[in-house]
Amino acid sequence: MQAGKNRINPDRQNLQNPRNSDIAQTDPEVADLQVQDALKLEATWLFLSFRPNSANVQNDVTIVGGGIVGLATAYQILSAKPGIKLTLIEKENEVGRHQTGNNSGVIHSGIYYKPGSLKARNCIDGYNRLLHFCDQHGIRYERCGKLIVATSEVELPLLDNLFKRGNENGLANLRMLGKEELREVEPHVSGLAGIYVPQTGIIDYLEVALKLSELIRHAGGTVVLNEKVIDIQTDSTNVVLATDKRTHTSKLAVNCAGLYSDKIARLTTPALDVKIIPFRGEYYKLRKEKEYLVKNLIYPVPDPNFPFLGVHFTRMIQGGVEAGPNAVLAFKREGYRKTDINVGELAESLAWPGFQKVALKYWKTGFGEMYRSFSKAAFTKALQKLIPEIQESDLIDGGAGVRAQACDRKGGLVDDFLILESGKVINVCNAPSPAATSSLSIGHTVAEKVLKRLVD
Ligand SMILES: Cc1cc2nc3c(=O)[nH]c(=O)nc-3n(C[C@H](O)[C@H](O)[C@H](O)COP(=O)(O)OP(=O)(O)OC[C@H]3O[C@@H](n4cnc5c(N)ncnc54)[C@H](O)[C@@H]3O)c2cc1C
Repeated sequence: MQAGKNRINPDRQNLQNPRNSDIAQTDPEVADLQVQDALKLEATWLFLSFRPNSANVQNDVTIVGGGIVGLATAYQILSAKPGIKLTLIEKENEVGRHQTGNNSGVIHSGIYYKPGSLKARNCIDGYNRLLHFCDQHGIRYERCGKLIVATSEVELPLLDNLFKRGNENGLANLRMLGKEELREVEPHVSGLAGIYVPQTGIIDYLEVALKLSELIRHAGGTVVLNEKVIDIQTDSTNVVLATDKRTHTSKLAVNCAGLYSDKIARLTTPALDVKIIPFRGEYYKLRKEKEYLVKNLIYPVPDPNFPFLGVHFTRMIQGGVEAGPNAVLAFKREGYRKTDINVGELAESLAWPGFQKVALKYWKTGFGEMYRSFSKAAFTKALQKLIPEIQESDLIDGGAGVRAQACDRKGGLVDDFLILESGKVINVCNAPSPAATSSLSIGHTVAEKVLKRLVD
């Protein structure tokens, strides 16, 4: 089955969001956890408490969120402890509908991340686990390698730092390339120097998510779709998750709700110090007749102060070449179009003290990204730094994804993965890129925590 954001499956065309659906509609059921659910909450608990017991599902562990992180966590728990009673709850009618199904599809090598950080460790471990998983289950991927290109003098020391960092992170066979050598790898690229990273690959993460979901079910776990978690309550022995349909009682819960992970965490940790700020990443696709301009993956040198990698060229495993994503503040957490606005969610982002500090610190970069979002000419100009031959007319709309980026109160865009344990709930509060690459490793880490807690 063809899967992923380029998949042409009529069943998926009516789904909310997706990158390549022109008819993406706003589903009011999904839209605003805070406003709608605050109103419904009291009534729901009252209603649920009068329902017969069949409306209450009894588990050892309940996981919120059927993205790749929640699925990988469920899979790792069931692999380590077959027979455990586990339910995963996803609010959409299919797994992988949000970040997991709307990303660049790159298997990251781990070159960028601070040595010793969770990102560095989980990326490299996750990389190995992912490739092994794909080999075991016949999931297509390609280790095609990528080029990181410095296009100005100021980027040269940053490129050197990246090279050192890659070596410190244990990446073998990285090659520093001069101007001419760059063209041997990517004939249409222009730059002063570059790093060739042989480990980087491409994959369809939605395909991985669907396989994980299938394996969870085969292992006796339950994947519930179309059910939205709206409240969580704990007592001395149990954690009870209320959905819009029933309750799920278990010994532990794991929150992998991606763009809503802070909202779910706040249900049991009201003083949570981070907020998810949604950043939309918009893509263009290269016209078929221009795909020859890109052999594999071409990236700029990233701004070390910014958590995003800069617009790049990516050959997709399903075919085609994408250019992007940029990073603009999304006016709605699951808002894939420029016109998608949720006033409550936008107001929350703007009112968060941490975001105000980020906006002040990065206003110049932010305006640049906004400008490129509205001006295709400006987007093209950014791409021309890497491939001067690219013209505006070579690019067609490629949809968008929305990143869940945690921002702390003090104004830090949280760089590392963040897993917070609070009572009977383990919250994965920051799982941005490369969390798809790292998913099986993050899942393994969380599974260890869950199993340790169940034994203790
Ligand atoms: C534009 C873009 C490009 C990226 N490129 C890459 C890349 O090339 N390589 C890489 O490794 N990573 C990449 N990433 C990052 C990667 O996609 C994410 O880190 C990863 O998918 C996070 O997975 P997740 O399961 O945490 O979140 P998600 O996939 O967003 O899943 C969270 C799930 O929780 C569900 N949910 C939320 N609230 C509730 C609720 N109340 N009740 C029930 N369910 C709920 C949602 O519906 C959703 O399905 C990219 C991300 C984006 C957006």
